[in-house]
Amino acid sequence: MSTSSVSDIPHEVDLLVVGSGAGGLTAALTGSLSGLSVLVVEHLAEIGGTSARSSGTVWVPDNHFMQDGAFAGDRQRAETYLEALVGDRGSREMWQRFLDAAPEMIKALAPAGVAFAPGLTAVDYRQDLPGAGMGGRPLYPQEFDGRRLGSDFERLAAPLRELMLFGGLMVTRPEAEKLLKADQSLSAFWLGARLIVRFLVDRFHHSRGTRLVLGNALVARLLFALQTRQVPVLTRVQVDRLTSEGERLTSAEVQIEGRSHAISARKGVILAGGGFPASPELREVHLPKPVAAHTPASEGCDGSTIKLAQAAGAMLGPDTLDNGQWFPSSLLMRDDCSIAVFPHIVLDRAKPGCIAVDQTGNRFVNEAVSYHEFVRGMYRAHAKAPAIPAWLIATRGFVARYGLGVIRPRTPLLGKYIRSGYLKTGKSVAALAAEIKVPEEALEATIARFNRFAATGKDTDFRRGENAYERGNGDPQHGPNPSLGPLDKGPWCAVALHPTPLGTSRGIAIDPDARALGADGQPIPGLYVVGNDAQSVFGGEYPGAGGQLGQAMTFGWLAARHAAGHAFKRQEG
Ligand SMILES: Cc1cc2nc3c(=O)[nH]c(=O)nc-3n(C[C@H](O)[C@H](O)[C@H](O)COP(=O)(O)OP(=O)(O)OC[C@H]3O[C@@H](n4cnc5c(N)ncnc54)[C@H](O)[C@@H]3O)c2cc1C
Repeated sequence: MSTSSVSDIPHEVDLLVVGSGAGGLTAALTGSLSGLSVLVVEHLAEIGGTSARSSGTVWVPDNHFMQDGAFAGDRQRAETYLEALVGDRGSREMWQRFLDAAPEMIKALAPAGVAFAPGLTAVDYRQDLPGAGMGGRPLYPQEFDGRRLGSDFERLAAPLRELMLFGGLMVTRPEAEKLLKADQSLSAFWLGARLIVRFLVDRFHHSRGTRLVLGNALVARLLFALQTRQVPVLTRVQVDRLTSEGERLTSAEVQIEGRSHAISARKGVILAGGGFPASPELREVHLPKPVAAHTPASEGCDGSTIKLAQAAGAMLGPDTLDNGQWFPSSLLMRDDCSIAVFPHIVLDRAKPGCIAVDQTGNRFVNEAVSYHEFVRGMYRAHAKAPAIPAWLIATRGFVARYGLGVIRPRTPLLGKYIRSGYLKTGKSVAALAAEIKVPEEALEATIARFNRFAATGKDTDFRRGENAYERGNGDPQHGPNPSLGPLDKGPWCAVALHPTPLGTSRGIAIDPDARALGADGQPIPGLYVVGNDAQSVFGGEYPGAGGQLGQAMTFGWLAARHAAGHAFKRQEG
């Protein structure tokens, strides 16, 4: 059933969900599975928000895949980890609630087809802290055939164009790595052939490939489950206000195609608008200076749901250090003059043979730390010397082997990137230094010093490549340190890196059932807030791959259960 027509608007439902990312759709599905009538409204034309363009990884310590063997007993380790990571920046009650509920949420959604595979080798980001996971906590959504969605496939938000092959073919990171060996391995060749044939066939009927992985597979699975249960997901709906009777929030006034409608929500309204990464106004108020001008998050995440909650009496949680979740990104002007925000997640920074320098030509951070910590390093350094934007520097040989930002490995000609201003190059270090306007002697000295670290495998300045996370993102074929390689032979290349919020961590204060809290600290009856609209339960920290979606889905699940009268209680023992 396609779920977009104005004639589908019910005037009364049990649960109204505002926002169609993973948080909102999980809440909607849980509400429906609990027997509630549910309506999802989304203000964009497409469904899925930032979740649909994400990698789709969901961080769930002590999940059911981890019950036996090396990962057994993870709950205790996860508590130790979050205790050390969050400290007094977040409420212990809230992250304990996350640890209690997240594994149950994953089990509860599985029969509805929201299926995952464990990331057994994906280690947590803060390996310097006790209890950091050595694998198993991140879960990856299983591949989904987008054709099963019927006409709703075209309403599913696409991933970032630059993260797909040929502008429309999705691949996972292991698949991308395998495809690079297509001229050396028969199985890699067949994988490439299969994916391309399927893509070409898809393109006869669809705007992009229908073999969905990553965040698109996650959102598609949730959407398909909602379709099956005949839960409408209406797009292009603007919510003007939430209205109350007495203390209880009871309805919303919405506009569809220029006409106003009142929708009453007997059991509650769940706000799941994805925070404010796309709001220049709220970025200015809450994010550190210099304020990020771009975001890879969905343009729909404009803070409007946070404002709706505030207008209904809900309050913001406390400042979380910098109130953002961060990617360092490079910016590319596309042929149509739009700007591509390309997140440097793991593919280049940690590989051997590149460094990041500030505008004085000095390294300022361990390049291989998580994207979140990298940007925090940029802000810390910028307080002393200009590091925003910073420069990611590598040799032409590195770019050919590993790629750099949007430039894929083995790209033969770089002219288009140079002409667009994305890539800066120089035949010598001096020429590159002049091109990017950093002092030549400083850059020469930085590279010479780094090359000595590469030879010994020990970075005595920043300790790059010393832990499992950093080594895992390096090159296993390279030694002695998989993340440290020399920058020894030009030509030289550089791209500018900017801080960009992939999400935001300051949001509406909620209780353990995701009920919004008012100024008196008491829950506002009938109002729930989940995902990035809610205050981060990790106090703005990023524990590991999937930390954001893990929270969004868990509290979406908790909110809907509470609204349905089945509030979650931890089973003791
Ligand atoms: C490239 C990339 C990769 C990422 N990979 C991961 C990952 O693997 N794991 C992870 O945990 N995190 C990842 N993230 C971050 C993660 O995607 C987000 O934090 C998460 O999707 C937020 O989920 P959400 O449900 O809160 O909001 P969203 O998924 O952003 O959904 C919010 C929806 O609400 C809509 N909306 C907003 N306001 C209104 C309104 N007033 N009325 C109606 N609709 C409204 C928006 O248009 C949007 O569709 C990634 C981010 C990016 C950019």
